[in-house]
Amino acid sequence: MKDMWIELKKEVLILRDTTPLRFLECLIYLIKNNQNILMTFFTKEKLETDMFILKFITQLDIKDYYVGSTGNDYELIIKKSIEEEPTDYYSFWKFLSNMVLDLVVFVTDKVCPNCKSDHLRVLTDREQINIYLYCETCFLCISEVGENVEEKELLPANIQLIQSCKCNF
Ligand SMILES: [Zn+2]
Repeated sequence: MKDMWIELKKEVLILRDTTPLRFLECLIYLIKNNQNILMTFFTKEKLETDMFILKFITQLDIKDYYVGSTGNDYELIIKKSIEEEPTDYYSFWKFLSNMVLDLVVFVTDKVCPNCKSDHLRVLTDREQINIYLYCETCFLCISEVGENVEEKELLPANIQLIQSCKCNF
């Protein structure tokens, strides 16, 4: 894990004026390079959701996604990422994968009907068929037609799916 972290630091320092897109490429590259170690670890620990997310990330084509729409301060996140060192392998994976998901998720300026926060994320199911809006603040999850649904394993929706959606973001 230490090697991975050193590699990430090196990559990030080389990039300097990193854009969200280049940072995303760097994260995916690191995950792909460590795919086998991660898979062995997830299998051993029976971490099915992580295995699923690993598959999603390694098969991800970034051209299919809106990159960097979360309104996060990536400069700060990148800076923080090279200052802190995760204490274990799993927290390192969590850091990398959450960053990737954050970078490819599309965030609307729609207001959450529950808490009035304006950062609803556009997600989809495992089969990538249905669209859901998810509120990061109060964890409300609603379907395309506005029905409340129970939060399940959801992924960032791709551009094609978002464009085909009836709910005009
Ligand atoms: Zn909310």
